[in-house]
Amino acid sequence: MTHSVQQDKKSVWHHLTPHQIFDHNDPLVMVKGEGMRVWDINGKEYLDASSGGLWTVNVGYGRTEIADAVREQLLTLNYFAQTAGNIPASEFAEKLIEKMPGMSRVYYANSGSEANEKAFKMVRQIAQKKYGGKKRKILYRERDYHGTTIACLSATGQEQRRDHYGPFVPDFIQVPHCCEYRSQWGEVEDYGIRAANEIERVILEEDPSTVGALCLEPITAGGGVITPPEGYWQRVQEICKKYDIILHIDEVVCGLGRTGKWFGYQQYGIQPDIVTMAKGVASGYAAISCTVTTEAIFNMFKEVEHDAKMDYFRDVSTFGGCTSGPAAALANLNIIERENLLENADKQGKYLLSLLHGLQEKHSIIGDVRGLGLFAGFELVEDRQTKVPVDESVSAAIAAHCMKQGVLIGRTNRSFALFNNTICLSPALIATKQDIDDIVHALDCALTEVVAETK
Ligand code: PMP
Repeated sequence: MTHSVQQDKKSVWHHLTPHQIFDHNDPLVMVKGEGMRVWDINGKEYLDASSGGLWTVNVGYGRTEIADAVREQLLTLNYFAQTAGNIPASEFAEKLIEKMPGMSRVYYANSGSEANEKAFKMVRQIAQKKYGGKKRKILYRERDYHGTTIACLSATGQEQRRDHYGPFVPDFIQVPHCCEYRSQWGEVEDYGIRAANEIERVILEEDPSTVGALCLEPITAGGGVITPPEGYWQRVQEICKKYDIILHIDEVVCGLGRTGKWFGYQQYGIQPDIVTMAKGVASGYAAISCTVTTEAIFNMFKEVEHDAKMDYFRDVSTFGGCTSGPAAALANLNIIERENLLENADKQGKYLLSLLHGLQEKHSIIGDVRGLGLFAGFELVEDRQTKVPVDESVSAAIAAHCMKQGVLIGRTNRSFALFNNTICLSPALIATKQDIDDIVHALDCALTEVVAETK
């Protein structure tokens, strides 16, 4: 065992990890990345189909252009609070807004959770100051995830992630998920409309004058890669307009090209009021997140003199927007644009999905295949008729087999007990046809072996 592994075993508390596994195994320690590939401390090479384990490294590893931009910025001005401006923060904000017609202002922070917290605080301040405390309820969806803080967990529809950490923040209300494969209402025509109408039902039950915002992932990520059913988003937008509800879209996973457009919501022709983003904003070269709002939302915090009850946004983040984060984000965005990575994500994503449908024909353990762009998942079931999810150990074994073959994949895990059976794929947007072939070949072998082993 190398010294670093010893140090890790002795001193590091890993995220989302039952540490007893290290009584008999060594932790995986990563040391290097280049393009689509990473190497661990033992020199083993992996093709990374998970973009760093958590859907993050959109432009791939080893980008000197981003590293140089960060280095130059640190040497020019490493820090000054966002109460003042700085050059990369304004340059990136302007470029980002260009990609988001209808959106207007960028509020910086450091992680997806924080970006969502800022959005919730905006909604709560609007509720208090503009509506005298009404319209403070925030709706969120079963199976969606919005982050790790107590408020974000209050808005998270995954019981296993939440249940140790209550009590939660009041006035967060859950609406049903929209996974047609797991339809709550049996086989229904127009499932998408039905699932969206359920949101309206909850709004009416709660009283529309008390509901301020609806916070949704464009495609549910960690909750099982749930692509929205036909008609869903258009109906959701109508409902928000009808009841004057702020539509907050959490693009922490889908943002910056993952689905083949700049943002996931742009796949559905809708117009949000607030958009949050993090992971792909700087592809992991810096910790940065953004809460982007319309001018109408921004103005509510600005026109204080016209509305004595309103106030500016009393929020701050020491590191948000300062200064290497936006420098990395700007270089990252330039790469996505210059290398046409949206087109590549769209093209290779379609190819990936077609291969996964091929795997589904071959392996009856695959119940459902879902995805858009370089963002895909498939559900493993014991039986296609009953759709009973496989035990978590089966998806774990498939991930382990892929890893043995030098391919890193993701999966929904213990944190989501009911549907912990989804294999998740999110290769970097630079993936080639050969990379996709290699990923799917590893999956094919893993499925064959694991199914044989469990018989
Ligand atoms: N929203 C979504 C949709 C996410 O998937 C995540 C992280 N996996 C978050 C928010 C939280 O982001 P972070 O871990 O950067 O706080």
